[in-house]
Amino acid sequence: MTVPSVTLNDGNTIPQLGYGVFRVPPADTERAVTEALEVGYRHIDTAAIYGNEEGVGAAIAASGIPRDELFITTKLWNDRHDGDEPDAAIAESLARLGLEHVDLYLVHWPTPARDNYLHAWEKLIALREAGLTRSIGVSNHLVEHLEKIVAATGVVPAVDQIELHPAYQQRDITDWAASRGMHIESWGPLGQGKYDLFGAEPVAAAAAAHGKTPAQAVLRWHLQKGFIVFPKSVRRERLQENLDVFDFELTPEEVAAIDAMDPGDGSGRVSAHPDEVN
Ligand code: NAD
Repeated sequence: MTVPSVTLNDGNTIPQLGYGVFRVPPADTERAVTEALEVGYRHIDTAAIYGNEEGVGAAIAASGIPRDELFITTKLWNDRHDGDEPDAAIAESLARLGLEHVDLYLVHWPTPARDNYLHAWEKLIALREAGLTRSIGVSNHLVEHLEKIVAATGVVPAVDQIELHPAYQQRDITDWAASRGMHIESWGPLGQGKYDLFGAEPVAAAAAAHGKTPAQAVLRWHLQKGFIVFPKSVRRERLQENLDVFDFELTPEEVAAIDAMDPGDGSGRVSAHPDEVN
């Protein structure tokens, strides 16, 4: 199973499909990540706030997989944007992960009420220059936040990791990304199981037409849209199922039918809005 890579705007490459460990309990993380690595994942998405970086690091160390074959993302939490806090935060994350650098470091949320996300972004630029992360990006940044940090620094994030699934496609951000050479990472790619995505007619029909599961049809839609995804599961059979999406292709009509699932009024959002997280 070879997962295709995409080339980011800084020239680094990232496997387009990975494994996200949000809400994987810390005590279960080493086991879950070990299984993910065994079935073929090489891209892991974690965050300081998930509390499970140590488990990710333990699985990496035990795997024996060469460091340059892995792509590891972690994130700067909201209360560590100020002053030199980002320097301390990444050092702590690297220690927990047992790594000398991560492949991608993200500002987790813009926390607009604190108005310090530009400073956080400037610090990430310096962390990349110091070699502690190979690529830098943001998460949950709206167009206004992206405009502000790029106007001030001239550095376009490699990615914006945002809630994105068929009912909530955030086209203002994906259009901005396409015009500025930024990649989109879809979090909650399966809608976090919070609505009947798998029973929706366009998804069920595409799955049936290709002899695949609805989850596989949705993941295929993300991949064909050019998004980077890392669905979460703690079950080995689902880890395998979610990786087994490179032997079929949705037709343009199937993609268009899933595109049409977003009501366009923001009502498909299943998690927090960036303006509310501070
Ligand atoms: P997801 O859309 O990946 O949904 C996960 C749920 O789907 C789990 O409950 C799982 O049981 C179920 N599932 C997984 N595979 C399935 C399958 N094949 N069939 C049926 N059900 C299946 O949601 P998520 O975990 O929130 O998002 C994925 C990753 O995105 C996270 O693990 C994390 O790395 C990242 N994330 C980032 C942010 C952020 O603010 N940057 C927020 C949430 C998640």
